[in-house]
Amino acid sequence: MSSQLHTLITAEEIQNKVQELAAEISADYAQTPLHLVGVLKGSFIFLADLARALSIPCSIYFVHASSYGDRQSSSGIVKIQHSLNMSNKHVLVIEDILDTGLTLSTIMEELNKQQPASLKVCAFLNKPERRKADIDGDYIGFTIPNEFVVGYGLDYGELYRNLPYIARLENVEDSS
Ligand code: 5GP
Repeated sequence: MSSQLHTLITAEEIQNKVQELAAEISADYAQTPLHLVGVLKGSFIFLADLARALSIPCSIYFVHASSYGDRQSSSGIVKIQHSLNMSNKHVLVIEDILDTGLTLSTIMEELNKQQPASLKVCAFLNKPERRKADIDGDYIGFTIPNEFVVGYGLDYGELYRNLPYIARLENVEDSS
């Protein structure tokens, strides 16, 4: 089956939103050192743009999250790989998309065990219709309908991550 891309959020809209989020985050963390934790792989482009738009110093870490199941539906079993120690630190987790929320809730649970000084979430995209875990982002880029999207870090079969815009991918089988 062939797939077609339909632009949902343009590169310009994305860059404007990144500047807005960065200004808000820079103001909120003006008095405290900030530690960004990106969730691989999807957040890498958003994190790179956001970090460069911040006007405050920050350190950058990554965790790798893998969800068992097919590419478009979380099975609910999420494995997190990291070697972080965020004790007493102000942590902002950077996610590509908040979908069921299962990935993020597992990451938050792991990081909370380390007793950070504060723990918040910045998600580039939000798909609230599919939420299963009781979690919301503290900073959200765009809220989108329940559609499978690619670009700006998000993939389908490891393709399309390098698109500078967000597109809806049509003709993709969704088994969720
Ligand atoms: P969760 O369902 O646990 O909130 O999201 C887990 C991961 O599924 C996200 O970090 C993202 O990598 C992937 N995901 C969820 N929705 C989409 C989507 O619409 N497009 C793509 N490419 N990945 C998605």
